[in-house]
Amino acid sequence: MERAYNFNAGPSALPLEVLNRAQEELVNFKQTGMSVMELSHRSKEYEEVHEQAQSLLRELMQIPNNYEILFLQGGASLQFAQIPMNFLREGKIGNYVLTGSWSEKALKEAKLIGETFIGASTKEQGYNSIPHVEEIAINKNDAYLHVTSNNTIYGTQWHKFPQFENISLIADMSSDILCRPIQVENFSLIYAGAQKNLGPSGVTVVIVKKDLLENSRQDIPTILRYTTHAEANSLYNTPPTFAIYMLSKVLEWVKEQGGIQAIEKRNIEKAKLIYDAIDESEGFYRGHAEKNSRSLMNITFNLPSDELNKKFLAEAKAAGFVGLNGHRSVGGCRASTYNSVPLEACMALRQFMIEFKDNHNQ
Ligand SMILES: *Cc1c(COP(=O)(O)O)cnc(C)c1O
Repeated sequence: MERAYNFNAGPSALPLEVLNRAQEELVNFKQTGMSVMELSHRSKEYEEVHEQAQSLLRELMQIPNNYEILFLQGGASLQFAQIPMNFLREGKIGNYVLTGSWSEKALKEAKLIGETFIGASTKEQGYNSIPHVEEIAINKNDAYLHVTSNNTIYGTQWHKFPQFENISLIADMSSDILCRPIQVENFSLIYAGAQKNLGPSGVTVVIVKKDLLENSRQDIPTILRYTTHAEANSLYNTPPTFAIYMLSKVLEWVKEQGGIQAIEKRNIEKAKLIYDAIDESEGFYRGHAEKNSRSLMNITFNLPSDELNKKFLAEAKAAGFVGLNGHRSVGGCRASTYNSVPLEACMALRQFMIEFKDNHNQ
């Protein structure tokens, strides 16, 4: 069977090699006579999977030893609440930079917990760009500064992160973790739901600096404290074992591809194919994001009319392209070109876009 040209925004494409390997060991994992799903999370065999996922992530992202790597549940959405619950104390301010719907959702949760502030926002421009680092306002009692590194719905991405002395930088990297190298040292906490670049849904990766944990609140429910999970090595309760197993397989694959640098190079090549099709279309395709804020992972665009958007999406679907419709809140078209989307799929989409334009641009 042919694999689909999968441009889904999340859950999204996984590498075929990873799926094949998981299939090979599905019913008998490492001569246990059981699937990974059937192993005890306290067994030696599972423990190896858990540790491999942590150590591969540490190696690939060059995560220093003063950071914990946690595997949690509840998606990135639980992090929106868990971050202020742990770090937003009385008298402190949660500072949020708004660059799209996900940052708005993060802010909404923080407001339920404590005092918040909007350090910068590009809402008035329809979230088509990322604010300049110099434009971000801070307060001396900020508990943290929260950013969304890639805006999945609007198709924008930070290319230079803010850096303020004495303010912990927290980033939602759900839709671009591992798409390019970053300096983990510049962040106090990074979180990402796995279902875009890391694996299947069900596990959320949290990378957190140990000294941030030292100041976290302990008067909240046990399962919501980061320290609970750090002390138990993410085995406080039953973790999503199969999702973590798939994560370890995806990380193995990233390493085989040559690591994050090689992945980035290919991501640039993939995105360029589609951005060039937009830029060379003489206005037929209109990119939503300003050029200097464009995302490597989510390419958003519109055609000259709603009718043409619909026609484009219908014909693309018939031609075997999956997931090209924009998010239900903004409409239009979106191609999500996550790490696992092959170059060939992007080449095929580029070709389709050029042909569609030639057929409909009289
Ligand atoms: C998908 C996404 C989320 C939501 O993730 P869930 O795991 O569904 O909670 C949050 N933030 C960003 C940037 C996303 O892309």
